[in-house]
Amino acid sequence: MTEASVGQKQKQLEFALASVCDLTAASVSSSVPVIARFIADSGVAELRFCRESDSVEGFNVDLRTAQLFKLGPLQSVCISEGSNTNKENSYSRGVTIQFKNAEESRDFHCAFEQWKNEVVQGTCLPNGEISASRSKFDDKIEPSSAKMYFHYYGQLLHQQNMLQDYVRTGTYYAAVIENRGDFTGRVVVDVGAGSGILSLFAAQAGAKHVYAVEASEMAEYARKLISGNPALAERITVIKGKIEEVELPEKADILISEPMGTLLVNERMLESYVIARDRFLVPNGKMFPTLGRIHMAPFTDEYLFVEVANKALFWQQQNYYGVDLTPLYGSAFQGYFSQPVVDAFDPRLLVSPPICHVLDFTEIKEEELYEIDIPLKFVAAVGTRVHGVACWFDVLFSGSTVQRWLTTAPGAPTTHWYQIRCVLSQPIYVMAGQEISGRLRMIAHNAQSYTIHLTLSGYCDSYS
Ligand code: SAH
Repeated sequence: MTEASVGQKQKQLEFALASVCDLTAASVSSSVPVIARFIADSGVAELRFCRESDSVEGFNVDLRTAQLFKLGPLQSVCISEGSNTNKENSYSRGVTIQFKNAEESRDFHCAFEQWKNEVVQGTCLPNGEISASRSKFDDKIEPSSAKMYFHYYGQLLHQQNMLQDYVRTGTYYAAVIENRGDFTGRVVVDVGAGSGILSLFAAQAGAKHVYAVEASEMAEYARKLISGNPALAERITVIKGKIEEVELPEKADILISEPMGTLLVNERMLESYVIARDRFLVPNGKMFPTLGRIHMAPFTDEYLFVEVANKALFWQQQNYYGVDLTPLYGSAFQGYFSQPVVDAFDPRLLVSPPICHVLDFTEIKEEELYEIDIPLKFVAAVGTRVHGVACWFDVLFSGSTVQRWLTTAPGAPTTHWYQIRCVLSQPIYVMAGQEISGRLRMIAHNAQSYTIHLTLSGYCDSYS
């Protein structure tokens, strides 16, 4: 794979394929090496096939309609819709592609999806509506992950768990009621309404109408709960569906949502919140919450380190029913350290003041949430062993009357998010005043979570 232009915004990407065979025009079928080029010309992304020897001959595939299927580990078929406007005479076109190796096949599929997404996301109709046949959600999330995710939220038990987090629900209530001026007479969209609680709060604050959008089976329960509160129910409409897919009869003056996962971004629901903003919020409309911050600081915790390390000791047995388990010790050790620890800890374990990374929900682009890269620089307040980096978050409700923070910081009243700690398999020694530097990279994956890569003062560990 060669990248013809470097940088964030690739304009052209080339693959030298083993061979390509045109299914629909047998005579053009070719078994010589073929170059496949992803090209974005004036906003239209195409895949161009041409022979290595002859760059003139070949054909183009419009990525807006094209689909790619795997026939085998090294073979795929690419189908694109005919472009003839007369539907009856419009035929699809197909090519089979032979890859040199599995890596090339994987890279090609990956590039195909990326370029296709770019087109779908980049295509705007004149009225500003996004045109996409498949939703942005389906494009990036593995169906089995989504199924599990919405099954989880479809259960009252889990909604109850959130409702019983009084720091969380109480802060939302206060933020809405104290800023009733932002809700009175306004149209509200509740993004991921769950039980419908935030919609009910918005209605209590005098909203003209609330659209409660919920993708899971919880939507039925929300309907039941809302109709059981008749004074508010006539101003709330529950809509079952993904925020990426539903249509609403009007735009919202204000969005309300609780899209925060562990470490703020886990679950990838912030992306849905941002998509809701782009699809439904009037210009300069309000967002509750308005922004979020991820806080990070190095910590020392000998007990935690030993606890994590000890979990792998099982694999040090040389005679487990006559079997030597030690060959797997190293993998088990790394495995335990690659899991972030979710719990509440004493802020006195922090080795230096935290730094923070701000995500402004009113401004951020959805794609900016795919990879979050934070340079770390701390100054140790004490000489100690640093066992890793602790992270937590807070969100701001920037109301017209009151600014209210919901925080999950250590030392503050504990929430169901707790805090998270990435533990290094090799602690580092620091002296008071010494600089600790590194990097925290979070990369979104299609199972609605992130892989965290943490580097601290030269030592590197990976988390997922
Ligand atoms: N607003 C409720 C529930 C918050 S949990 C409360 O504050 O108590 C997040 C909810 O959003 C879940 O019920 C989940 O099913 C829903 N959700 C997540 N992603 C969604 C999406 N893309 N479209 C619609 N609902 C979504």
